[in-house]
Amino acid sequence: MLINKDHRERAIIFDRDGVINDVILRGETISSPRSFAEFQVRDDFVQLYEQIDPQFFSIFVVSNQPDVARGLLPKSELDRMSAAMLERFAFSRISCCEHDDLADCVCRKPKPGMIKSILDDFGFEPENALIVGDSWKDILAGKAAGVRTVYLRRAYNEKDMNCMPDLKIDRLVQLLPIMKDML
Ligand SMILES: [Mg+2]
Ligand SMILES: [Zn+2]
Repeated sequence: MLINKDHRERAIIFDRDGVINDVILRGETISSPRSFAEFQVRDDFVQLYEQIDPQFFSIFVVSNQPDVARGLLPKSELDRMSAAMLERFAFSRISCCEHDDLADCVCRKPKPGMIKSILDDFGFEPENALIVGDSWKDILAGKAAGVRTVYLRRAYNEKDMNCMPDLKIDRLVQLLPIMKDML
């Protein structure tokens, strides 16, 4: 399925947990929502989203959700989260890897499978796509797919900073000028 794209259309690919929605603290461990009730969309994401011009940008989500394979997150709950996002936001696709490391799949970030599928299926050149994430896995996946990489600093991820992203930002709205430069 190759769709002819307007030459100015670009792909913005978001990691999910910690970017679109809040991470969940379980004891000392940063975790992700394991029920729909724990899924809270972040205000800073909404503020950014409202300023993205859909005429120029298609928006995608790529998310590792290994808690499905681990039996900690019912797939039905994950699907509810995705449905809620699609209801609220004009995302072109939400991709979730539901595997654990043991499955050795091609989709689990830092592998680039989910990003490559987006580029192939929607007809984007890698240089016209950008991933933003709060984990080194997002950055390495983006690099492996050849897209631009933006690392979002959060209070909990300082030790992750050696993944060599193209850019680092402290606030999501800082993406807007970066996106403008892609056009
Ligand atoms: Mg994340
Ligand atoms: Zn996978």
